Amino acid sequence: MKHGIRQLFIPGPTNVPDRVRRAMNVTMEDQRAPDLPELTLGLFRDLKRAFGNKSGRVFMFPSSGTGAWESAIQNTLAPGDRVLMSRFGQFSHLWVEMAERLGLNVELVDVEWGMGVPLDVYEEKIAADTAHEIRAVFVTHNETATGVTSSIPGVRKLLDAHSHPALLFVDGVSSIASIDFRQDEWGVDLAVAGSQKGFMLPAGLSFLSVSEKALAANRDNRPKMARSYFTFADQIATNDQGYFPYTPPTQFFHGLRAALDMLFEEGLDNVFARHHRLAEGVRRGVQGLGLKLVAAGPQWHSDTVSAVYVPEGVDANLVLKIAYERYNTSFGGGLARLNGKVFRIGHLGDLNEVMCLSALACAEISLADAGARITPGAGVAAAHAYFREAHSASQAER
Ligand code: PLP
Repeated sequence: MKHGIRQLFIPGPTNVPDRVRRAMNVTMEDQRAPDLPELTLGLFRDLKRAFGNKSGRVFMFPSSGTGAWESAIQNTLAPGDRVLMSRFGQFSHLWVEMAERLGLNVELVDVEWGMGVPLDVYEEKIAADTAHEIRAVFVTHNETATGVTSSIPGVRKLLDAHSHPALLFVDGVSSIASIDFRQDEWGVDLAVAGSQKGFMLPAGLSFLSVSEKALAANRDNRPKMARSYFTFADQIATNDQGYFPYTPPTQFFHGLRAALDMLFEEGLDNVFARHHRLAEGVRRGVQGLGLKLVAAGPQWHSDTVSAVYVPEGVDANLVLKIAYERYNTSFGGGLARLNGKVFRIGHLGDLNEVMCLSALACAEISLADAGARITPGAGVAAAHAYFREAHSASQAER
């Protein structure tokens, strides 16, 4: 029998705050009730705020984030369209796979895992495309498999520098509502997120935030990709009245209301600052243990997840198993080519410094149990010192 709190340090699903969980605990409702729009219209409005999208609109689908990926592609592109993508981890890989399955002509840039979107290569390709055949440029903002964050403003800048009209697609599943994201300011046309990460809800709701330009691409007269469930026009026809073209998961809406309230009460800038502080503490802890991140340098560091190489000769899967079975704690595993070599600490959503110290303490004891030669307490001590330093600095600023 396992005792104590089941600790979740995976990069999603994240901890669902009690306030959100309680908000979802309602009796079933009529999805066509006349007062439902009082709830749903406010959600659409506030989701736009969370994405930094003033002019466009946000769709909500009862799916995980992958469904919103599919909707984004199906509604704005046509089979055979040339698109620019890069692959540097399991999630950017899956996005490429989907694009190919849906018949897009993918111009793929493979990047060493540990780095992110290669701005120089993107720039070369964009500069060379004077005929504007590339219809869309894809960016995985935060590659959850490697703990790598890429620069969206960097991509926007190079598109603007070449006056290139491609649509900008961003996978923000493990970044939006946790780290800085500004859809309008960064000229993002289609931004995808899921409920189970920064939005602190269970998995099962996806968000797709689209610009006016993406809506125009959806309406244009070009050939269309086959689409059905995720069709924008069906959503628009019902969403504007606060309803949906399918049976919506109304409990989720109450949870989302509470989650958005929590995010805005804290203030999005404070949410981002907290994620940075917690992530930096975890990184110091990893360094204190003498371990290395997969992220190949500080410019790639993710503030939502750290992928950590285990020492040579240690099986990362054994570390995960020990953490789970002996200490009731989940870390993320190494995905695809990183399997067995890496464990991942998710540090996003509803969490604080002491929870991160606990993650490091559990990583230390599980690593030691799995045969790693580490100094017990070295990771916790380094993170502890950083958290205290960060606290003092914030007090001094006041
Ligand atoms: N993109 C990224 C960056 C992710 O981290 C994930 C899931 O973890 C996905 C896409 C797929 O999202 P979902 O599992 O919600 O379909």
